[in-house]
Amino acid sequence: MHINVIGAGLAGCEAAFQSAQRGLKVYLYEMKPQKKTPAHKSDTFSELVCSNSLKADRVESAAGMLKEEMRVMNSLLMECADQCRVPAGGALAVDRDKFSAMVTDRIRNHPNIQVVEKEVLNLDEFIQDKDGITVIASGPLTSESLSKSIQEKFGGALSFFDAAAPIVSAESIDMEHAFTASRYGKGDGDDYINCPMNKEEYENFHRELVNAERAPLHDFDVNNPKVYEGCMPIEIMAQRGEDTIRFGPMKPVGLRDPKTGHRPWAVLQLRKENALGSMYNLVGFQTNLKFPEQKRVFGLIPALKNAEYYRYGVMHRNTFLNSPKILNSDYSAREYPNLFFAGQMTGVEGYMESASSGLLAGMNAARRALGMETLTMPETSMTGALSRYISCPEVEKFQPMGANLGVLPPLENRPRDKKERAAAYAYRGLEDIEKFLSLSGENFKPANIQK
Ligand SMILES: Cc1cc2nc3c(=O)[nH]c(=O)nc-3n(C[C@H](O)[C@H](O)[C@H](O)COP(=O)(O)OP(=O)(O)OC[C@H]3O[C@@H](n4cnc5c(N)ncnc54)[C@H](O)[C@@H]3O)c2cc1C
Repeated sequence: MHINVIGAGLAGCEAAFQSAQRGLKVYLYEMKPQKKTPAHKSDTFSELVCSNSLKADRVESAAGMLKEEMRVMNSLLMECADQCRVPAGGALAVDRDKFSAMVTDRIRNHPNIQVVEKEVLNLDEFIQDKDGITVIASGPLTSESLSKSIQEKFGGALSFFDAAAPIVSAESIDMEHAFTASRYGKGDGDDYINCPMNKEEYENFHRELVNAERAPLHDFDVNNPKVYEGCMPIEIMAQRGEDTIRFGPMKPVGLRDPKTGHRPWAVLQLRKENALGSMYNLVGFQTNLKFPEQKRVFGLIPALKNAEYYRYGVMHRNTFLNSPKILNSDYSAREYPNLFFAGQMTGVEGYMESASSGLLAGMNAARRALGMETLTMPETSMTGALSRYISCPEVEKFQPMGANLGVLPPLENRPRDKKERAAAYAYRGLEDIEKFLSLSGENFKPANIQK
Protein backbone atom coordinates (compact mmCIF):
# COMPACT_ATOMS: atom_id res chain seq x y z
CA MET A 1 0.00 0.00 0.00
CA HIS A 2 1.07 3.60 -0.59
CA ILE A 3 -0.32 7.04 0.33
CA ASN A 4 -1.20 9.83 -2.10
CA VAL A 5 -1.40 13.36 -0.75
CA ILE A 6 -2.89 16.14 -2.90
CA GLY A 7 -1.51 19.60 -2.08
CA ALA A 8 1.81 20.49 -0.43
CA GLY A 9 0.36 23.21 1.76
CA LEU A 10 0.28 23.22 5.55
CA ALA A 11 -2.04 20.23 5.86
CA GLY A 12 -0.57 18.26 2.95
CA CYS A 13 3.07 18.53 4.09
CA GLU A 14 2.17 17.48 7.62
CA ALA A 15 0.04 14.58 6.31
CA ALA A 16 2.79 13.39 3.94
CA PHE A 17 5.40 13.54 6.70
CA GLN A 18 3.25 11.63 9.20
CA SER A 19 2.52 8.83 6.71
CA ALA A 20 6.15 8.68 5.60
CA GLN A 21 7.40 8.52 9.19
CA ARG A 22 5.23 5.43 9.64
CA GLY A 23 7.17 3.72 6.87
CA LEU A 24 4.79 4.21 3.94
CA LYS A 25 5.71 5.34 0.45
CA VAL A 26 4.07 8.74 -0.12
CA TYR A 27 3.34 10.47 -3.45
CA LEU A 28 2.81 14.17 -2.77
CA TYR A 29 1.05 15.98 -5.65
CA GLU A 30 1.56 19.75 -5.89
CA MET A 31 0.63 22.00 -8.81
CA LYS A 32 3.33 24.57 -8.01
CA PRO A 33 5.45 25.86 -9.67
CA GLN A 34 3.50 25.43 -12.96
CA LYS A 35 0.27 26.75 -11.53
CA LYS A 36 -0.43 28.89 -8.46
CA THR A 37 -3.63 29.87 -6.66
CA PRO A 38 -4.37 33.65 -6.61
CA ALA A 39 -2.88 33.84 -3.06
CA HIS A 40 0.26 31.70 -3.43
CA LYS A 41 3.40 33.48 -4.65
CA SER A 42 6.43 31.28 -3.89
CA ASP A 43 7.56 27.94 -5.32
CA THR A 44 8.10 26.40 -1.89
CA PHE A 45 5.72 24.27 0.19
CA SER A 46 3.63 25.21 3.27
CA GLU A 47 3.50 28.83 2.18
CA LEU A 48 1.94 31.25 4.67
CA VAL A 49 -0.25 33.27 2.31
CA CYS A 50 -1.00 36.16 4.66
CA SER A 51 0.12 36.81 8.25
CA ASN A 52 3.34 35.25 9.53
CA SER A 53 1.79 34.72 12.97
CA LEU A 54 0.74 31.27 14.09
CA LYS A 55 -1.18 32.91 16.96
CA ALA A 56 -0.68 32.55 20.74
CA ASP A 57 2.17 30.41 21.98
CA ARG A 58 1.17 30.15 25.65
CA VAL A 59 0.01 26.59 26.35
CA GLU A 60 -2.72 28.14 28.51
CA SER A 61 -4.71 29.40 25.50
CA ALA A 62 -6.74 27.68 22.78
CA ALA A 63 -4.17 28.30 20.03
CA GLY A 64 -1.22 27.49 22.31
CA MET A 65 -2.86 24.29 23.51
CA LEU A 66 -3.33 23.13 19.91
CA LYS A 67 0.32 23.82 19.11
CA GLU A 68 1.56 21.95 22.19
CA GLU A 69 -0.62 18.95 21.28
CA MET A 70 1.01 19.00 17.85
CA ARG A 71 4.48 19.07 19.42
CA VAL A 72 3.45 16.09 21.56
CA MET A 73 2.44 14.27 18.35
CA ASN A 74 5.80 14.99 16.64
CA SER A 75 4.51 17.55 14.15
CA LEU A 76 6.94 18.51 11.39
CA LEU A 77 5.42 21.96 11.00
CA MET A 78 5.73 22.76 14.70
CA GLU A 79 9.35 21.60 14.70
CA CYS A 80 10.11 23.92 11.75
CA ALA A 81 8.06 26.80 13.22
CA ASP A 82 9.93 26.58 16.52
CA GLN A 83 13.23 26.83 14.63
CA CYS A 84 12.12 29.80 12.51
CA ARG A 85 10.54 31.96 15.20
CA VAL A 86 10.88 35.73 15.20
CA PRO A 87 10.09 37.95 18.21
CA ALA A 88 6.31 38.51 18.46
CA GLY A 89 5.42 39.00 22.13
CA GLY A 90 3.17 36.16 23.27
CA ALA A 91 2.58 34.85 19.76
CA LEU A 92 4.58 32.37 17.73
CA ALA A 93 5.50 34.22 14.55
CA VAL A 94 7.95 32.86 12.00
CA ASP A 95 10.25 34.05 9.25
CA ARG A 96 7.90 32.90 6.50
CA ASP A 97 10.54 32.25 3.81
CA LYS A 98 12.82 30.34 6.17
CA PHE A 99 9.86 28.34 7.49
CA SER A 100 8.59 27.39 4.05
CA ALA A 101 12.10 26.56 2.80
CA MET A 102 12.77 24.36 5.83
CA VAL A 103 9.51 22.41 5.41
CA THR A 104 10.21 21.99 1.68
CA ASP A 105 13.69 20.72 2.39
CA ARG A 106 12.47 18.17 4.95
CA ILE A 107 9.76 16.94 2.60
CA ARG A 108 11.90 16.75 -0.54
CA ASN A 109 14.70 14.93 1.32
CA HIS A 110 12.49 12.43 3.12
CA PRO A 111 13.42 8.97 1.80
CA ASN A 112 9.77 7.86 1.70
CA ILE A 113 8.30 10.93 -0.01
CA GLN A 114 8.21 11.46 -3.76
CA VAL A 115 6.98 14.86 -4.93
CA VAL A 116 4.88 14.81 -8.11
CA GLU A 117 4.72 18.28 -9.65
CA LYS A 118 1.37 18.35 -11.36
CA GLU A 119 -2.14 19.68 -10.97
CA VAL A 120 -4.61 16.97 -9.97
CA LEU A 121 -7.67 17.46 -12.15
CA ASN A 122 -9.90 14.62 -11.09
CA LEU A 123 -10.45 12.31 -8.10
CA ASP A 124 -11.35 9.25 -10.18
CA GLU A 125 -7.83 7.86 -10.50
CA PHE A 126 -7.40 8.10 -6.71
CA ILE A 127 -10.74 6.49 -5.93
CA GLN A 128 -9.81 3.67 -8.29
CA ASP A 129 -6.30 3.28 -6.82
CA LYS A 130 -6.82 0.00 -4.94
CA ASP A 131 -3.26 0.02 -3.58
CA GLY A 132 -3.39 3.56 -2.29
CA ILE A 133 -5.04 5.70 0.34
CA THR A 134 -5.46 9.36 -0.57
CA VAL A 135 -5.42 12.51 1.55
CA ILE A 136 -6.97 15.54 -0.21
CA ALA A 137 -5.41 18.72 1.16
CA SER A 138 -5.69 21.16 -1.72
CA GLY A 139 -6.77 24.05 0.48
CA PRO A 140 -9.25 26.94 0.44
CA LEU A 141 -8.24 27.88 -3.10
CA THR A 142 -8.34 24.40 -4.63
CA SER A 143 -8.03 24.63 -8.42
CA GLU A 144 -11.23 24.66 -10.41
CA SER A 145 -11.15 21.28 -12.06
CA LEU A 146 -10.41 19.41 -8.83
CA SER A 147 -13.09 21.41 -6.98
CA LYS A 148 -15.58 20.33 -9.62
CA SER A 149 -14.59 16.70 -9.28
CA ILE A 150 -14.92 16.84 -5.46
CA GLN A 151 -18.29 18.51 -5.84
CA GLU A 152 -19.51 15.78 -8.20
CA LYS A 153 -18.39 12.97 -5.89
CA PHE A 154 -19.92 14.51 -2.79
CA GLY A 155 -23.28 15.60 -4.13
CA GLY A 156 -22.51 19.29 -4.42
CA ALA A 157 -21.70 19.61 -0.72
CA LEU A 158 -18.89 22.10 -1.27
CA SER A 159 -18.94 25.83 -0.50
CA PHE A 160 -16.75 28.27 -2.39
CA PHE A 161 -17.34 31.28 -0.27
CA ASP A 162 -17.39 31.91 3.44
CA ALA A 163 -19.73 34.70 4.52
CA ALA A 164 -19.85 34.16 8.22
CA ALA A 165 -21.35 36.03 11.13
CA PRO A 166 -19.36 36.31 14.38
CA ILE A 167 -19.65 33.70 17.12
CA VAL A 168 -19.52 34.70 20.79
CA SER A 169 -19.15 32.67 23.98
CA ALA A 170 -22.43 31.97 25.77
CA GLU A 171 -21.04 32.98 29.13
CA SER A 172 -20.03 36.44 27.91
CA ILE A 173 -23.58 37.43 26.87
CA ASP A 174 -25.08 39.85 29.40
CA MET A 175 -28.42 38.20 30.20
CA GLU A 176 -29.43 41.30 32.20
CA HIS A 177 -29.92 42.88 28.77
CA ALA A 178 -31.17 39.82 26.87
CA PHE A 179 -33.97 37.26 27.01
CA THR A 180 -34.54 33.78 25.59
CA ALA A 181 -37.56 33.32 23.29
CA SER A 182 -38.40 32.23 19.75
CA ARG A 183 -40.47 34.51 17.52
CA TYR A 184 -44.20 34.17 18.24
CA GLY A 185 -43.32 31.59 20.90
CA LYS A 186 -42.59 28.92 18.25
CA GLY A 187 -39.89 26.23 18.68
CA ASP A 188 -37.75 25.61 21.75
CA GLY A 189 -37.71 28.62 24.05
CA ASP A 190 -33.95 28.61 24.56
CA ASP A 191 -32.83 28.19 20.95
CA TYR A 192 -32.51 31.97 20.61
CA ILE A 193 -31.15 34.65 22.87
CA ASN A 194 -32.63 38.04 21.96
CA CYS A 195 -30.65 41.23 22.42
CA PRO A 196 -33.13 44.14 22.45
CA MET A 197 -32.36 47.80 21.74
CA ASN A 198 -34.38 50.94 22.29
CA LYS A 199 -34.68 53.68 19.65
CA GLU A 200 -31.72 55.72 20.90
CA GLU A 201 -29.43 52.69 21.24
CA TYR A 202 -30.38 51.49 17.77
CA GLU A 203 -29.78 54.87 16.10
CA ASN A 204 -26.35 55.15 17.68
CA PHE A 205 -25.52 51.56 16.67
CA HIS A 206 -26.67 52.17 13.10
CA ARG A 207 -24.57 55.31 12.75
CA GLU A 208 -21.42 53.56 14.00
CA LEU A 209 -22.07 50.49 11.85
CA VAL A 210 -22.24 52.33 8.53
CA ASN A 211 -19.14 54.38 9.37
CA ALA A 212 -17.03 51.53 10.75
CA GLU A 213 -13.77 50.52 9.11
CA ARG A 214 -13.98 47.59 6.69
CA ALA A 215 -11.35 44.97 5.90
CA PRO A 216 -9.78 45.21 2.45
CA LEU A 217 -10.97 42.52 0.06
CA HIS A 218 -8.59 40.50 -2.13
CA ASP A 219 -9.01 40.89 -5.90
CA PHE A 220 -10.45 37.39 -6.13
CA ASP A 221 -13.06 38.32 -3.50
CA VAL A 222 -13.98 41.70 -4.97
CA ASN A 223 -14.66 39.99 -8.28
CA ASN A 224 -16.81 37.35 -6.64
CA PRO A 225 -20.43 38.35 -7.21
CA LYS A 226 -21.54 36.40 -4.14
CA VAL A 227 -20.01 39.04 -1.83
CA TYR A 228 -22.91 41.35 -2.34
CA GLU A 229 -25.68 38.92 -3.28
CA GLY A 230 -27.52 36.42 -1.11
CA CYS A 231 -25.21 36.98 1.86
CA MET A 232 -24.96 40.75 2.06
CA PRO A 233 -22.74 42.13 4.84
CA ILE A 234 -24.76 43.78 7.60
CA GLU A 235 -22.88 47.09 7.15
CA ILE A 236 -23.78 47.21 3.43
CA MET A 237 -27.43 46.45 4.14
CA ALA A 238 -27.44 49.15 6.84
CA GLN A 239 -26.21 51.71 4.30
CA ARG A 240 -29.47 51.40 2.38
CA GLY A 241 -31.42 53.29 5.01
CA GLU A 242 -31.74 53.75 8.74
CA ASP A 243 -34.57 51.23 9.04
CA THR A 244 -33.43 48.62 6.51
CA ILE A 245 -31.85 46.25 9.05
CA ARG A 246 -34.67 46.94 11.55
CA PHE A 247 -37.01 45.44 8.94
CA GLY A 248 -34.42 42.77 8.09
CA PRO A 249 -32.17 40.73 10.43
CA MET A 250 -32.94 43.00 13.43
CA LYS A 251 -36.72 42.94 13.11
CA PRO A 252 -38.44 42.82 16.49
CA VAL A 253 -41.75 41.24 15.35
CA GLY A 254 -43.08 38.34 17.37
CA LEU A 255 -40.89 39.21 20.35
CA ARG A 256 -41.79 40.85 23.65
CA ASP A 257 -39.13 41.89 26.16
CA PRO A 258 -40.22 40.38 29.51
CA LYS A 259 -38.54 43.31 31.35
CA THR A 260 -40.61 46.04 29.66
CA GLY A 261 -43.58 44.00 28.45
CA HIS A 262 -43.18 45.73 25.05
CA ARG A 263 -41.87 44.89 21.65
CA PRO A 264 -38.29 46.27 21.42
CA TRP A 265 -37.34 48.86 18.76
CA ALA A 266 -34.84 46.43 17.23
CA VAL A 267 -33.50 43.00 18.20
CA LEU A 268 -30.37 41.04 17.39
CA GLN A 269 -31.05 37.32 17.68
CA LEU A 270 -28.29 34.93 18.78
CA ARG A 271 -28.63 31.29 17.76
CA LYS A 272 -27.02 28.33 19.49
CA GLU A 273 -23.99 27.26 17.46
CA ASN A 274 -23.13 23.91 19.03
CA ALA A 275 -24.85 21.12 20.96
CA LEU A 276 -23.02 22.13 24.16
CA GLY A 277 -24.65 25.57 24.00
CA SER A 278 -21.31 27.21 24.70
CA MET A 279 -21.29 29.34 21.50
CA TYR A 280 -23.84 31.63 19.91
CA ASN A 281 -23.98 33.01 16.36
CA LEU A 282 -25.09 36.60 15.60
CA VAL A 283 -27.94 35.80 13.20
CA GLY A 284 -27.76 37.70 9.89
CA PHE A 285 -24.62 39.59 10.91
CA GLN A 286 -22.21 38.35 8.23
CA THR A 287 -19.72 41.16 7.99
CA ASN A 288 -16.54 42.42 6.45
CA LEU A 289 -15.69 44.91 9.22
CA LYS A 290 -12.17 44.80 10.65
CA PHE A 291 -12.05 42.55 13.73
CA PRO A 292 -11.54 45.34 16.35
CA GLU A 293 -14.40 47.25 14.72
CA GLN A 294 -16.70 44.23 15.09
CA LYS A 295 -15.93 44.15 18.80
CA ARG A 296 -16.45 47.92 19.16
CA VAL A 297 -19.60 48.32 17.05
CA PHE A 298 -21.42 45.10 18.02
CA GLY A 299 -20.45 45.94 21.62
CA LEU A 300 -22.89 48.88 21.37
CA ILE A 301 -25.68 46.29 21.59
CA PRO A 302 -26.14 46.24 25.37
CA ALA A 303 -26.16 42.44 25.74
CA LEU A 304 -22.85 42.22 23.82
CA LYS A 305 -21.00 44.93 25.72
CA ASN A 306 -18.46 42.45 27.10
CA ALA A 307 -18.84 39.73 24.50
CA GLU A 308 -15.93 37.37 23.97
CA TYR A 309 -15.50 36.44 20.29
CA TYR A 310 -14.68 32.84 19.38
CA ARG A 311 -14.78 33.73 15.71
CA TYR A 312 -15.12 37.09 13.98
CA GLY A 313 -17.27 37.53 10.89
CA VAL A 314 -15.48 37.07 7.57
CA MET A 315 -16.27 37.34 3.89
CA HIS A 316 -13.77 35.60 1.68
CA ARG A 317 -13.28 32.89 -0.87
CA ASN A 318 -12.92 29.57 0.89
CA THR A 319 -13.50 26.12 -0.49
CA PHE A 320 -14.84 23.88 2.24
CA LEU A 321 -16.89 20.72 2.50
CA ASN A 322 -20.14 20.31 4.32
CA SER A 323 -18.06 18.06 6.58
CA PRO A 324 -20.77 17.15 9.13
CA LYS A 325 -22.51 15.25 6.32
CA ILE A 326 -19.36 13.85 4.70
CA LEU A 327 -16.50 13.20 7.10
CA ASN A 328 -15.79 11.00 10.10
CA SER A 329 -13.91 12.36 13.09
CA ASP A 330 -10.74 10.59 11.86
CA TYR A 331 -10.96 12.81 8.71
CA SER A 332 -11.93 9.90 6.41
CA ALA A 333 -14.86 10.25 4.01
CA ARG A 334 -17.90 8.24 5.08
CA GLU A 335 -18.66 7.07 1.54
CA TYR A 336 -15.07 6.37 0.49
CA PRO A 337 -13.07 4.91 3.38
CA ASN A 338 -9.82 5.16 1.39
CA LEU A 339 -10.19 8.94 0.98
CA PHE A 340 -9.22 11.34 3.74
CA PHE A 341 -9.51 15.12 3.72
CA ALA A 342 -7.29 17.58 5.57
CA GLY A 343 -6.77 21.31 6.00
CA GLN A 344 -9.03 24.30 5.53
CA MET A 345 -11.16 22.17 3.13
CA THR A 346 -12.53 20.22 6.09
CA GLY A 347 -13.81 23.35 7.80
CA VAL A 348 -11.05 23.78 10.35
CA GLU A 349 -9.81 27.34 10.08
CA GLY A 350 -6.29 28.69 10.41
CA TYR A 351 -2.73 27.72 9.64
CA MET A 352 -2.09 25.43 12.58
CA GLU A 353 -5.61 24.04 12.64
CA SER A 354 -5.06 23.02 9.01
CA ALA A 355 -1.71 21.47 9.86
CA SER A 356 -3.17 19.59 12.84
CA SER A 357 -5.89 18.06 10.68
CA GLY A 358 -3.14 17.06 8.23
CA LEU A 359 -1.29 15.41 11.09
CA LEU A 360 -4.31 13.30 12.02
CA ALA A 361 -5.30 12.52 8.42
CA GLY A 362 -1.71 11.47 7.58
CA MET A 363 -1.43 9.35 10.72
CA ASN A 364 -4.82 7.71 10.07
CA ALA A 365 -4.19 7.14 6.36
CA ALA A 366 -1.01 5.29 7.35
CA ARG A 367 -2.79 3.32 10.05
CA ARG A 368 -5.48 2.28 7.58
CA ALA A 369 -2.84 1.25 5.03
CA LEU A 370 -1.14 -0.84 7.73
CA GLY A 371 -4.42 -2.53 8.66
CA MET A 372 -4.69 -0.72 12.00
CA GLU A 373 -7.68 1.05 13.54
CA THR A 374 -7.82 4.80 12.86
CA LEU A 375 -7.71 7.17 15.85
CA THR A 376 -9.70 10.20 17.00
CA MET A 377 -8.00 12.15 19.78
CA PRO A 378 -9.84 12.64 23.11
CA GLU A 379 -12.66 15.18 23.03
CA THR A 380 -10.92 17.19 25.76
CA SER A 381 -7.96 17.88 23.45
CA MET A 382 -8.15 20.70 20.90
CA THR A 383 -7.29 18.35 18.01
CA GLY A 384 -9.99 15.93 19.15
CA ALA A 385 -12.60 18.63 19.76
CA LEU A 386 -12.03 20.23 16.35
CA SER A 387 -12.27 16.92 14.49
CA ARG A 388 -15.52 16.18 16.33
CA TYR A 389 -16.87 19.67 15.62
CA ILE A 390 -16.38 19.40 11.85
CA SER A 391 -17.85 15.89 11.69
CA CYS A 392 -20.79 16.25 14.11
CA PRO A 393 -23.79 14.96 12.05
CA GLU A 394 -26.34 17.06 13.97
CA VAL A 395 -24.87 20.38 12.77
CA GLU A 396 -27.32 22.03 10.35
CA LYS A 397 -25.66 25.21 9.15
CA PHE A 398 -21.95 24.40 9.11
CA GLN A 399 -19.38 27.16 9.35
CA PRO A 400 -15.60 26.71 9.57
CA MET A 401 -14.02 26.96 13.02
CA GLY A 402 -10.60 27.69 14.48
CA ALA A 403 -9.20 26.59 17.85
CA ASN A 404 -11.22 28.03 20.72
CA LEU A 405 -12.14 26.93 24.22
CA GLY A 406 -15.85 26.81 23.33
CA VAL A 407 -15.44 23.56 21.38
CA LEU A 408 -14.16 21.74 24.48
CA PRO A 409 -16.47 19.90 26.90
CA PRO A 410 -17.08 21.86 30.14
CA LEU A 411 -14.67 21.49 33.06
CA GLU A 412 -15.86 19.67 36.16
CA ASN A 413 -14.51 22.32 38.52
CA ARG A 414 -14.58 25.45 36.45
CA PRO A 415 -12.26 28.22 37.79
CA ARG A 416 -13.87 31.68 37.75
CA ASP A 417 -10.65 33.35 36.67
CA LYS A 418 -10.26 33.38 32.88
CA LYS A 419 -6.53 32.60 32.84
CA GLU A 420 -6.89 29.77 35.35
CA ARG A 421 -9.78 28.40 33.31
CA ALA A 422 -7.75 28.38 30.08
CA ALA A 423 -4.92 26.63 31.96
CA ALA A 424 -7.28 23.99 33.33
CA TYR A 425 -8.63 23.25 29.84
CA ALA A 426 -5.11 22.97 28.42
CA TYR A 427 -3.66 20.75 31.16
CA ARG A 428 -6.68 18.44 31.07
CA GLY A 429 -6.46 18.09 27.26
CA LEU A 430 -2.71 17.53 27.20
CA GLU A 431 -2.81 14.92 29.97
CA ASP A 432 -5.64 13.09 28.19
CA ILE A 433 -3.90 13.11 24.83
CA GLU A 434 -0.67 11.75 26.32
CA LYS A 435 -2.58 8.92 28.06
CA PHE A 436 -4.47 8.16 24.87
CA LEU A 437 -1.35 8.07 22.68
CA SER A 438 0.46 5.92 25.17
CA LEU A 439 -2.41 3.36 25.21
CA SER A 440 -2.65 3.35 21.44
CA GLY A 441 1.07 2.66 21.01
CA GLU A 442 1.78 5.87 19.02
CA ASN A 443 5.11 7.65 19.54
CA PHE A 444 4.84 10.94 21.40
CA LYS A 445 6.87 13.51 23.36
CA PRO A 446 5.75 14.62 26.82
CA ALA A 447 4.04 18.03 26.86
CA ASN A 448 6.03 21.00 28.09
CA ILE A 449 3.78 22.17 30.91
CA GLN A 450 5.13 24.51 33.56
CA LYS A 451 2.33 24.73 36.12
C1 LIG B 1 -6.12 34.74 1.25
C2 LIG B 1 -6.06 33.93 2.50
C3 LIG B 1 -5.45 34.44 3.62
C4 LIG B 1 -5.38 33.69 4.80
N1 LIG B 1 -4.75 34.21 5.89
C5 LIG B 1 -4.63 33.48 7.03
C6 LIG B 1 -3.92 34.00 8.17
O1 LIG B 1 -3.40 35.11 8.14
N2 LIG B 1 -3.83 33.23 9.29
C7 LIG B 1 -4.38 31.97 9.34
O2 LIG B 1 -4.25 31.30 10.39
N3 LIG B 1 -5.05 31.46 8.29
C8 LIG B 1 -5.20 32.16 7.13
N4 LIG B 1 -5.87 31.65 6.04
C9 LIG B 1 -6.57 30.38 6.17
C10 LIG B 1 -5.71 29.07 6.14
O3 LIG B 1 -5.05 28.94 7.36
C11 LIG B 1 -4.71 29.00 5.03
O4 LIG B 1 -5.37 29.07 3.81
C12 LIG B 1 -3.90 27.69 5.07
O5 LIG B 1 -2.84 27.80 4.16
C13 LIG B 1 -4.72 26.46 4.78
O6 LIG B 1 -3.90 25.33 4.73
P1 LIG B 1 -4.21 24.14 3.70
O7 LIG B 1 -3.11 23.16 3.85
O8 LIG B 1 -5.60 23.68 3.89
O9 LIG B 1 -4.15 24.82 2.25
P2 LIG B 1 -2.90 25.52 1.50
O10 LIG B 1 -1.86 25.89 2.48
O11 LIG B 1 -3.50 26.56 0.64
O12 LIG B 1 -2.32 24.35 0.60
C14 LIG B 1 -2.98 23.82 -0.51
C15 LIG B 1 -1.94 23.42 -1.55
O13 LIG B 1 -2.61 22.69 -2.57
C16 LIG B 1 -2.15 23.10 -3.84
N5 LIG B 1 -3.22 22.78 -4.80
C17 LIG B 1 -4.42 23.37 -4.97
N6 LIG B 1 -5.13 22.74 -5.93
C18 LIG B 1 -4.35 21.72 -6.37
C19 LIG B 1 -4.50 20.71 -7.37
N7 LIG B 1 -5.62 20.61 -8.09
N8 LIG B 1 -3.50 19.82 -7.60
C20 LIG B 1 -2.32 19.90 -6.87
N9 LIG B 1 -2.11 20.85 -5.93
C21 LIG B 1 -3.12 21.74 -5.67
C22 LIG B 1 -1.86 24.59 -3.66
O14 LIG B 1 -0.94 25.05 -4.61
C23 LIG B 1 -1.31 24.62 -2.23
O15 LIG B 1 0.10 24.48 -2.22
C24 LIG B 1 -5.97 32.38 4.85
C25 LIG B 1 -6.59 31.88 3.71
C26 LIG B 1 -6.64 32.62 2.55
C27 LIG B 1 -7.31 32.04 1.33
